[in-house]
Amino acid sequence: MQLRVVMSSNPPASTRGAATDAGRARLVTMPATPAAAPGLSKDLDVALTSAAAMLRSSEVVTVLTGAGVSAESGIPTFRDALTGWWARFRPEELATPEAFASDPARVWSWYALRRAAVRHAQPNPAHEALVWLARKSPRCTLLTQNVDGLHEAAGHEDVVSLHGSLMRVRCSADCSPAFVAPESMDVSGSEQAPTSPPPCAACGAPLRPDVVWFGEPLPSEALERARSATFACDVFLSVGTSNMVEPAASLPWLAASHGATVLVVNPSMAGQRTGPSIVPLTGSATALLPRLVARAWPARR
Ligand SMILES: [Zn+2]
Repeated sequence: MQLRVVMSSNPPASTRGAATDAGRARLVTMPATPAAAPGLSKDLDVALTSAAAMLRSSEVVTVLTGAGVSAESGIPTFRDALTGWWARFRPEELATPEAFASDPARVWSWYALRRAAVRHAQPNPAHEALVWLARKSPRCTLLTQNVDGLHEAAGHEDVVSLHGSLMRVRCSADCSPAFVAPESMDVSGSEQAPTSPPPCAACGAPLRPDVVWFGEPLPSEALERARSATFACDVFLSVGTSNMVEPAASLPWLAASHGATVLVVNPSMAGQRTGPSIVPLTGSATALLPRLVARAWPARR
């Protein structure tokens, strides 16, 4: 049930199997993804229409989103955000319990900077299309690996956040519930002079971001809901994720093994699985999701 770092950007399929990796997370940051061309190829157009029909007729839809959905809201991936002074660090030097224990100011400042960067980000048409999908589908569950809160900002009322929230902080001694970080806790322009985390008001232990770090368990309730929704769905929509982050990476294939059709929306199909029930829709989330949902429920136009 723990996050685990894998430095390879494209592990062999045999290491990503659901049987061995269920509940155990291995994080690899998605590479930068170029936006899709505005026009659709004929093949993609046909595939999109077919996928829309499946979506329209499905009873239970489960959606899994990743960094590609946030990219066009201007939110860089974890790795892409490692610029300037931060480029010297590897993810596990900033996103592990050990890193926080050895240098809490560095880790706190990194997350505070990221939080400041996303605080004023706006949802994009992909987020909005998913809100519409949730309203039109008889039963839809949204699972996300993103920690930026943009699904909620778009109006999604029930989001299963597998990796926690960048916008919340909590006591590192777990004495009290997480809470939304006030803007005063953000850090700006102080990369070389990291700020120590403020103390928990109740017990004095340092506060920490309410995200899941490498080596930490995923929130059990979120993981359980994700699995249930994966087993129950007849269409699984994977959007903007390279599907290399365990356990989320296994969910689409778990759905396929239970008879669901898996729609994969991503600019690159590298590393994605293929099969008779897997429909690749190659393009960015903002280019394809609004079209997909509008074709499924044309009243959206
Ligand atoms: Zn506390």
